[in-house]
Amino acid sequence: MIGVLDLQGDVVEHLDHLDRLGVSARRVKDRSDLANLQGLIIPGGESTCLARLLVIFGLDAAIRSAYRRGMKIWGTCAGAILLASRVMGGKAHLGLIDMEIERNGFGSQLDSFTGRAVIPKVSKVPVPLIFIRAPKIRSVGPGVEILWQAEDYIAAVETREGLATVFHPELTNNLAFHSYFARKCGLDIDTRPASPSEEDSSWTITSWTRHMRIAPG
Ligand code: GLN
Repeated sequence: MIGVLDLQGDVVEHLDHLDRLGVSARRVKDRSDLANLQGLIIPGGESTCLARLLVIFGLDAAIRSAYRRGMKIWGTCAGAILLASRVMGGKAHLGLIDMEIERNGFGSQLDSFTGRAVIPKVSKVPVPLIFIRAPKIRSVGPGVEILWQAEDYIAAVETREGLATVFHPELTNNLAFHSYFARKCGLDIDTRPASPSEEDSSWTITSWTRHMRIAPG
């Protein structure tokens, strides 16, 4: 079972990707939701807001101790900021991955962009990359493997227990990163989709809305 931290940010999009892979997942809103999770995803959103809510709900200490007991963790964008041990010009939060990160490293929301790249450990074919007011990973410590880097920044890193991406695989139709993380958590995932690109053609930009609770009208 994989948990998705459900305090703020793109929670339903991660749940949708796990669902497409046939991975059971649960929303994590409270300490008790961390019980028996093989992995936890911290979604993108706003790291300052997520960091305050983590403390208010006592989830920061609970996540650290679940991680020490073997729970794997993946942070996307704001989630990667929460995982960094050093935040330039600011304070570290969970500090579970030895790396230095710069918030809003590309500029404002208007400097958001997309691209594609081959990230060999994750997928043999190019995966779509979406950077939304993304941070830049500036440096990593020993024991942190760089999965993908560009001119002056690092965008994806991994440790034995953790994964951090400054882009958003959950906002694309590509399942490669979710499948990679599920395997890192030791889960047996089914082989859907059969396509070698791990792209799900049934995905549309609004398909994740089925995971939102719509009040009966
Ligand atoms: N800029 C945001 C922050 O600092 C992260 C943006 C995102 O998660 N897309 O938290």
